[in-house]
Amino acid sequence: MKRALVIFALLWFAAVGLLTAGTTALRVGHLIDPGTGTVAANQVILVSDGKIAEIGPGVKIPSGVEVIDLTKAWVMPGLMDAHTHMTFGGLSLTSGIEAIYLKQSSAARVLVGLRNAQDVLRAGFTTIRDVGNEANFASVDLRDAINRNLFDGPTILTTGKIIAPFGGQSMRIPPEQGRFWLYEYIDADTPDEVRKAVRQVIYYGADAIKLVADNSPFFYSLAEIQAAVSEGHAAGRAVSVHIFAGGEPARTCILGGVDSIEHGFLLEDELLALMKEKGTALVSTDFPEAHIAGIDPSGLYFGSAKEFAAKIVDRLKRARRAGVTLVFGTDTVNHLPGKNRPEMMLDYLASWQAAGIPPAETLKAMTTNAAKLLRIEKIRGALSAGLAADIIATPANPMEDIQAIRRVQFVMKDGKLIRNDT
Ligand SMILES: [Zn+2]
Repeated sequence: MKRALVIFALLWFAAVGLLTAGTTALRVGHLIDPGTGTVAANQVILVSDGKIAEIGPGVKIPSGVEVIDLTKAWVMPGLMDAHTHMTFGGLSLTSGIEAIYLKQSSAARVLVGLRNAQDVLRAGFTTIRDVGNEANFASVDLRDAINRNLFDGPTILTTGKIIAPFGGQSMRIPPEQGRFWLYEYIDADTPDEVRKAVRQVIYYGADAIKLVADNSPFFYSLAEIQAAVSEGHAAGRAVSVHIFAGGEPARTCILGGVDSIEHGFLLEDELLALMKEKGTALVSTDFPEAHIAGIDPSGLYFGSAKEFAAKIVDRLKRARRAGVTLVFGTDTVNHLPGKNRPEMMLDYLASWQAAGIPPAETLKAMTTNAAKLLRIEKIRGALSAGLAADIIATPANPMEDIQAIRRVQFVMKDGKLIRNDT
């Protein structure tokens, strides 16, 4: 009888050991829920198999599991950026966008992307959507290498090549140079060509679709936008469209049912109201003045950096007032001296502050709003049981000062500890 009890006890401990072997417990001092804009004190998160198994104030920590003490930290879901170009950098509009893709191979670009991806993960961005300018599907290779656990990196959703009317984002290339922009873009100039281009990027590995609609004097028509949307949505892909300014090309995209307008720096109030009505998100890429001056030092494209930055802030303010769904996206494509990619991305927070956006709304734009646009809200973007354990922590409260998220000191991605400097 005694022996049977000992055997039973041994088996029981072995079973508990097996159950808790891959489990980590986080003791959390302040838990931020960006979805509701609330903070809860003294919570416990149990992480198992890369997911949040349990979360709450009364969750019991099983004996023997690894415990991480975050009682002095502010803990929240990992950040998301819905508009990145991981494999692209060093843009100067003085020499032109073409200088990059004429001189750098896809292999070189993927290595740049890997470095940027690792840096952004350590800074707290656990998910990014990469929206083109990624050489010959370099971002697909980057995403796949991270997904195969060859490297640590954020979850990457990529659009692959950008679909655009003839010429991509190059204008007036002499005809004798040929269509070298096809290294980065797909020319699509009828509804059928747009449909085919959407199928092509999905075939080569795209998770989402990116069009450029107003880079030339000729714009996409309603029929062309509708073709992209119906083809993209049929394959479960959200459709994002680069609109630099606003006006008729933007109206066409909104009416055509795209999921997000990217940039939209000069969107008129009437179109912001239409976006609210149609449920079109704004990925606002609010370049700070120093960044505009960095990519366009001669003011060829943006004019006065100071004035343009002020217009961007004004548009963000108006978009919020109109009730448009705001999604954080940065569009960083160069590095100011001494700054790495995530530091450049986090500089955009200053624009959100200048527009008077409360920190809680900015955090929502960086988590739950982004997750919905990226169609991954059932997998990540919030801290609740069953979702991926993408968790970050800061030493100060970002709900009071959003700049606190520049000081991320703890990152967990899919349950794997990336850093803990608490
Ligand atoms: Zn961009």
